[in-house]
Amino acid sequence: MSFALPQLDAPPTTTSTRTHCPYCAFQCGTVLTGDNALSLKIEGDAEFPVNAGRLCVKGWSAAELLGHPDRLLKPLVRGAFGELLPASWPVALDRIADAFRRIQAEHGLDAVGLFGSGALTNEKAYLLGKFARVTLRTPHMDYNGRYCMSSAAGAGNKAFGIDRGLPFPVSDIALSRTLFVVGSNPFDTLPPIAQWFEKQRTNGGRLIVADPRRTPTARSADLHLQLTPGSDLALANGLLFIAIEEKLVDAEFISSRTNGFDAVRRTVLQYYPARVEQMTGVSESALRQTVRWLAESGPSMILTGRGPEQQSKGVDSVLGFINLTLALGLPGKPGAGFGTLTGQGNGQGGREHGQKADQLPGYRLIEVDAHREHVARVWGVDPASLPRKGRSAYELLDSCGQPNGIRGLLVMGSNVAVASPHSGSVIERLKSLDFLAVCDSFANETAELADVVLPVKQWAEEDGTMTNLEGRVIRRRKAMASPPGVKSDLDIIRELANRLGHAEKFTFASTEAVFDELRLATAGGTADYAGISYDRIDREDGVFWPCPSEDHPGTPRLFGERFHHADGKAKFHVIEHRPAGEEPDAEFPLYFTTGRYQEHYNSGAQTRRVAKLSGAKPIPRLQLHPELATLLGIENDWFVTVESRRGRVEFKVEVSIGIRPDTLFAPFHWGGRHAANLLTNPALDPTSRMPEFKLAAVRVVAVREPDFSAPEVSA
Ligand code: SF4
Repeated sequence: MSFALPQLDAPPTTTSTRTHCPYCAFQCGTVLTGDNALSLKIEGDAEFPVNAGRLCVKGWSAAELLGHPDRLLKPLVRGAFGELLPASWPVALDRIADAFRRIQAEHGLDAVGLFGSGALTNEKAYLLGKFARVTLRTPHMDYNGRYCMSSAAGAGNKAFGIDRGLPFPVSDIALSRTLFVVGSNPFDTLPPIAQWFEKQRTNGGRLIVADPRRTPTARSADLHLQLTPGSDLALANGLLFIAIEEKLVDAEFISSRTNGFDAVRRTVLQYYPARVEQMTGVSESALRQTVRWLAESGPSMILTGRGPEQQSKGVDSVLGFINLTLALGLPGKPGAGFGTLTGQGNGQGGREHGQKADQLPGYRLIEVDAHREHVARVWGVDPASLPRKGRSAYELLDSCGQPNGIRGLLVMGSNVAVASPHSGSVIERLKSLDFLAVCDSFANETAELADVVLPVKQWAEEDGTMTNLEGRVIRRRKAMASPPGVKSDLDIIRELANRLGHAEKFTFASTEAVFDELRLATAGGTADYAGISYDRIDREDGVFWPCPSEDHPGTPRLFGERFHHADGKAKFHVIEHRPAGEEPDAEFPLYFTTGRYQEHYNSGAQTRRVAKLSGAKPIPRLQLHPELATLLGIENDWFVTVESRRGRVEFKVEVSIGIRPDTLFAPFHWGGRHAANLLTNPALDPTSRMPEFKLAAVRVVAVREPDFSAPEVSA
């Protein structure tokens, strides 16, 4: 049976459109000129205050994907002989609805799962969450933002009572006198942010970077703390010890605006400088210099990235730096405080509107009765009908095909076969599913395993909203028509809901109408969007949440008067250093850590298809220190096979003094034989369920010289 629903987005009305880059959380403003894939030009939007006209190489080249020859333009359905074959939309959608209906009838509601994405607009994230809870009634929905922001989110909620990546506008960076960046390389991952660092430097500010690698950001720092991988938490406690010992803490702030400092002070007495120097590899003089600059030079800011966060102790590591920030009395003042640099385009909004297994729209919690009742009222359903908390991202994937696990899965906008830790195991789990459906623009490594693949619209072809790393809600605006044969993710959700008997709850006249229902669902919640409208975003160039009413100005800076716990105070947390899920030992003696190239984004499914980007970085290179190269008897451009307890990968070597001799680094943008995540450890943080992407124990098991007669093949 097929249903024809009207498409949600109206045709574009102008040939010059202000919108935003499709990739990372900086969500640079862009101006698109032209109305088709071949002629579209992208310029940085000088009026948008976050990037002020600058873009990185990914943003400049994003239009190449719109008319790319690899683009999926027809649904694909797996045929009787195992190959993916073109099919009509009704056939493909019926196949998904029939499979989900059959699996749930035979194995229960919990046997189907949904996996969303930090790339989806707020409207899509919201509607996908509603589809999971209202139509499928499965608890098992999560998204790839779990792999990105969940530890910082968990720590922010514990300490401040709220999770917003930056609790201040990004322009505050320029006001800070000392900026301390921990485990992030924004000069490569968010290059236009460098303008705020430059302004900070021009204003006389200093930069400190903690990172096991000497990244471009670390190279520009006044002080680089090249710490041992996994020692971030000990570093944070050690810095707090020095702040207390040297009487640099802000006693008035601690007593009037926080709880729990005494217990933390007693704990950090164990983190005296000589011990922390041994644990972290950072000298006592550098530790003391860091604290003095943070405490004495004016407004100071601490920003964390995925380094401390993507660990099995990620929440505690972030809490360690929040403890330090609170002890120094930094939050709530211009140019000061704690923030985290969000990764994915809508990683922030994605988790505010119900994609996480434990959350409902507005950052409401699925296990809290009052929260369930509010959202159920908006959705017109019985609160008791809403499922409870489901499995987190890795746990959801790891249950696929297992007894009492997921048997049917829909993945929307996420390449989980490349992006997940221990990816070899995840691929086997996906293969063991009864049914897998994927919505994407390209046949990525996950789509290759699917029974049905649905081709979707891209960023320049649709309307919606995103929430950037500052908590600023912005408009994605349609600049051109989509090619015939593709649909919006929103249309796909609506058509599936229609087939599964819930058409009336998924009937919307426009994308804006979805947003208007989202506003109602978030009203009164922590992430309150009730006062944000498309018109306001247009007029004000974005609105910061929380914004509870249309006459509320929005909240660019949090914590000036109060934190978001009931008593208005922030909470210190006692945290202790503990080993990673896996530490180097005699068998696997080296640390392995992962990260990003400037030229690529996430699993690389898009950027590996852009000629300029794949030309610059065709394959992942394994960064390795010259001392280790000598020990292994290898040279630059040779190949080594690296093995962990989970898999092995052959990498081409880049010998570099930019890394510690005990550590190997590789980017994670490739799948297949180049997949760094074949090696990574799925040990999970107990609170955030974040996998330990940043630290695995490995060994080098083979080396070989390059074969110069064979051309290098792009992956
Ligand atoms: Fe800006 Fe990020 Fe896009 Fe680069 S990838 S242009 S930093 S939004």
